[in-house]
Amino acid sequence: MPRDFDIGKYHDLDPVTRVLMGPGPSDVPPRVLRAMAAPTLGHLDPEFLTLMSETQELLRAVFQTDNALTIPVSGTGSAGMEACFVNLIEPGDQVAVVVKGVFGARMVDCASRLGADVIPIEAEWGRAVQPEAVEKALQGRQPKIFAVVHAETSTGVLQPLSEIISLAKAWGALVLLDCVTSLGGVEVKLDAWGIDAAFSGTQKCLSCPPGLAPLSFNDQAVAKVRARKSKVPSWYLDLTMVGDYWGAERKYHHTAPVNMIYALREALRIVLEEGLETRFARHWLHHRALVAGIEAMGLRMKVPPEERLATLNLVVIPEGADDLTTRRALLAQFGLEIGAGLGPFAGKVWRVGLQGHSATERNVMLFLTALTSVLRAQGVKVSGDGPAAAQDVYAHAGRS
Ligand SMILES: *Cc1c(COP(=O)(O)O)cnc(C)c1O
Repeated sequence: MPRDFDIGKYHDLDPVTRVLMGPGPSDVPPRVLRAMAAPTLGHLDPEFLTLMSETQELLRAVFQTDNALTIPVSGTGSAGMEACFVNLIEPGDQVAVVVKGVFGARMVDCASRLGADVIPIEAEWGRAVQPEAVEKALQGRQPKIFAVVHAETSTGVLQPLSEIISLAKAWGALVLLDCVTSLGGVEVKLDAWGIDAAFSGTQKCLSCPPGLAPLSFNDQAVAKVRARKSKVPSWYLDLTMVGDYWGAERKYHHTAPVNMIYALREALRIVLEEGLETRFARHWLHHRALVAGIEAMGLRMKVPPEERLATLNLVVIPEGADDLTTRRALLAQFGLEIGAGLGPFAGKVWRVGLQGHSATERNVMLFLTALTSVLRAQGVKVSGDGPAAAQDVYAHAGRS
């Protein structure tokens, strides 16, 4: 340490409490933070091994799957994506990827780096992909994998799945689903929907801090990994080895992030105590209230009603409002975080998350009230009473 190093200027950690209504992370319940602060066990301690098994059972319940290979990958949602691709893709494999936002484009990048012959299936930003577009793109091709984002966090679109999954299966492809912003927020049923592999993240609708990526592979996906001619090109994410730690052998591969797993276990317990159906209905209720408020104020939602995602809402920035000024004022005056637009939507929309613990009446009312105030301060005309319109939705729905 240099002699003049001033340790005194590094104060005790004391971050402010925000209201997290951006694209993630979402607000973390105090129970989850308390679980993280429990004493660290060894990653092979019998007591920890029990907690690992319980976490897997809870994860299967939330994913609605019986898949044995259901684990939290060490790393954020993107590590879950990479784990799926490095294990499933062999060089030269045809991989169809639906691209209709940032996260589809990220999958194309990831698959290309692994030497896949990528078949991008493009759809307009802010819209779902149509089955006809999928059918056309797959004509004459032999995709081994069909990858699609369920809830596109960059565009606020919930992708309808049943028809495109049937098409992909008819072509003999394994279906890979990004459910980072859907798991724990809107319905996800891996087994009933015929999903072969899926990944998610902890910090969106599960309301756990970022750091783990829930992942699940069914028998067909595991069989594709086992039939590889070449080794999985990532040592860290090789599921044949990671699976030996999470499976019956409990063989050391890398040190599990023990306290993050405590947090995930607690977050999953909270999800299942609430009940999946109740939880999904709660997200849709607050989404409806938010939309009613926004529209009453004379503002517009970006996505057509039938394609909207409850957990991530795109609000068109009204004329006269400055994107950055508005977001800064929400943060400074109200402690409220929302997200900026991405890609072609930068400067054009705000992204308002209603994810897990953040999806509450209090937050919706705060957001609408705060936005009204911040817009009026910029001289933007707000035509109607957003909070009152949201209250109307709550009054008619009964409380949740
Ligand atoms: C957030 C997100 C990711 C990436 O997750 P990170 O935790 O940021 O690595 C992937 N896909 C979607 C749809 C997301 O919203």
